[in-house]
Amino acid sequence: MKNQIRLRFAPSPTGPLHIGGLRTALFNYLFAKKMGGELVLRIEDTDKKRTVKKSQKHIEESLSWLGIDFDESTSKGGDYGPYNQSERGSIYIKYVNELVEKGLAYYAFDTTEALDLERKSHEKKGKTFIYNSHNREKGRLVNSLVLSEKETQEKIKKGQYVIRFKTPADKVIHFEDIVRGKLSVSTRDIDDKILFKSDGMPTYHLANVVDDHLMKISHVIRGEEWLPSLALHNLIYNAFGWASPKFAHLPLILKPTGKGKLSKRDGDQFGFPVYAINWLEEKLYKGFKESGFLASALINYMAFLGWRPQGENEVYSMSELITDFSLNNINKAGAKFDPKKLLWVNAQHIQKTNIKDLIELCSSKNTDIEKGVFDRFLEIVRPRLETIDGLKKKFLYLFERPGINKDLVSKMSSKETISAINDFITELKSNKANKAQSLKEMLSKSVERSGAKFGKTLGFCRASIVGKMEGPDVFEMMEFIGSEETLDRLTLCVNI
Ligand code: GLU
Repeated sequence: MKNQIRLRFAPSPTGPLHIGGLRTALFNYLFAKKMGGELVLRIEDTDKKRTVKKSQKHIEESLSWLGIDFDESTSKGGDYGPYNQSERGSIYIKYVNELVEKGLAYYAFDTTEALDLERKSHEKKGKTFIYNSHNREKGRLVNSLVLSEKETQEKIKKGQYVIRFKTPADKVIHFEDIVRGKLSVSTRDIDDKILFKSDGMPTYHLANVVDDHLMKISHVIRGEEWLPSLALHNLIYNAFGWASPKFAHLPLILKPTGKGKLSKRDGDQFGFPVYAINWLEEKLYKGFKESGFLASALINYMAFLGWRPQGENEVYSMSELITDFSLNNINKAGAKFDPKKLLWVNAQHIQKTNIKDLIELCSSKNTDIEKGVFDRFLEIVRPRLETIDGLKKKFLYLFERPGINKDLVSKMSSKETISAINDFITELKSNKANKAQSLKEMLSKSVERSGAKFGKTLGFCRASIVGKMEGPDVFEMMEFIGSEETLDRLTLCVNI
């Protein structure tokens, strides 16, 4: 028998998939896997005006790069398709008609201008205009509740109508969210939301509820921005006489400053990506992938945006996340997006990844580094990497001799240091050692003979090889650039 736990990720293809959507997809995936359930990718493309054609491809490629796979989707198929809502039009017509017949939905013909006027006149009185039992039958609004059957049919024929949900009057409804607990809302505050439009398409509310029911979704995990719709969705489930799935609304992802919701403009402003992969609009928005992040690191980081396992460990693989994941420790408070922390997590994953896999991931991004030396290069620099792109530029001194940093070299020089370096140069000339370990032993002996300090002498070597006080292990660098080049760099600096 099939497992009853079924989840879905239901993006609207109105643009690229940003980190908020990716995090929602991930939490659905983790819970589905944890429970041995199934995961559906449903594309909510009923709003023709807002649909951006290439966006579905961006969504699918982003998810696939991250390793979030689905059991059912438009490309995979499945028993509950079609999985693009734009192809399910006749289903929604059937269900909205059912509500109209039961008297739980009605036709409305108000023009946008008339509704704007209502809104403005309410605002003037300090009130908010809500289209519901307060006013729907008072005669100012034009709908099938006040018009005769004949008038209604005539207006429907003209094709300018919407179908609204008939929110029950003056009821308090109670419902539950796994993250927020018990909630209640008065129907006085709920709008008779539009369910269906005369272009033959449902709105989000109808399509979402109908599909979650027909696709046998057991748990809905989605962003907090949908929490205000939960009361309405509960009412729609009741209207159809269907049991509603369980809901978990994930906390917002906040800007790095902690103030306000993260937006794509923040990425631009603070210089970090917000999309998994590149997105080209008027300009190129670089993705995490193209900026040198590992999919496993982004997964790890996103899992911690609003969730925390027990214990101190912060470095998790996908399978460890699945093992530890639970809906019970999702936070209510917004989760701050911290690009520095993401870099740290990325560095941890670069360290942890099997070297062969890492070489494969990195070499395609760093084609400017010769194949024959790439493996050795990566081994040396790996402990210092935060991202895996542009590596030649970051460690250019391993390929090209840097300019001499006179100030730094003199800072590192003392009589003893210079004498140790000269001794080392002589030794190296006669004994062309080229392994890090033997170079280290050789320098130690030169230091001893000259009465120099090892640390300072090492600093001199670093200043000569790199031109700055940074970079990988000095002896590893010497081995990488070779004894000739090491000799040249040291000689140039020892003689200034
Ligand atoms: N299409 C909605 C969105 O893109 C789905 C919301 C939901 O999961 O119910 O956010």
